[in-house]
Amino acid sequence: MQAGPWRITALLDASGPFFLPAGAAFSGATDDDWARAARIDPEAFGPDDTWNLAFRCFAIHLPRGGYALVDAGIGPADSPASSWAPVPGHLLERLAQAGIDRRDVRLVVLTHLHEDHFGWSVSPGGVPNFPNARYVIQRTEIDALGGDSVVHTAVIDPLLATGQLNTVDGRVCVAGHRGDGVSVLPTPGHTPGHQSVVVRGHGRQVVITGDVLVHAVQLADPGVAYRFEADQDTARRTRRAMLDEAGCRPTWLATAHLNTPFLRA
Ligand SMILES: [Zn+2]
Repeated sequence: MQAGPWRITALLDASGPFFLPAGAAFSGATDDDWARAARIDPEAFGPDDTWNLAFRCFAIHLPRGGYALVDAGIGPADSPASSWAPVPGHLLERLAQAGIDRRDVRLVVLTHLHEDHFGWSVSPGGVPNFPNARYVIQRTEIDALGGDSVVHTAVIDPLLATGQLNTVDGRVCVAGHRGDGVSVLPTPGHTPGHQSVVVRGHGRQVVITGDVLVHAVQLADPGVAYRFEADQDTARRTRRAMLDEAGCRPTWLATAHLNTPFLRA
């Protein structure tokens, strides 16, 4: 996907069934919502109400050199996501297949600090996998972690040790400029400090949503809550605002968990 000078590559870390049936994960969805969702993302629907989902990251080629990586997947076999996600993921192989050297990643944006989004950010030995990147995370997201959260030892402490943690507050342009560039945008609800990435170029906009949308049923009806949203009302408001804004200009949505990487909004 191209937005002006910005080339966005989808990288599939893994895919597989979710540990809960779709009906239990999105209990507020109506039959009509499910029918519309099946037209948007038919691959999400497995037998016996199974929800099949992708675990996807995105690389953005930076015209001045290097790449930004958005999210870091479920990680290797022994990653924190291994208790429920289809590990091991394959992000490092996918990067190599796309011709992207890990050392050329200048920015890693973590949309939020769930284990299926930070999996490859730091190796199990505590060494950041992207040695020349700053890791962009909203301050609110880190502040919302419990003091004994595994995320501190798995991600935050190693990044502090190497000086690679770049904590941000609110909307921040991380490459180019705001009218034509790459920005992070707070999109709370799924987690308190969740952020999405907005890429704008030559009149086109690509929004890398993170988990604002985790299933097509939330596109069919943005009011449908996901069971594991930290604040479902805030998540609904965020989803509606994102889709309303997308209606104002040509926009593609790039999602982590739908089975199609790019969808026209
Ligand atoms: Zn997720």
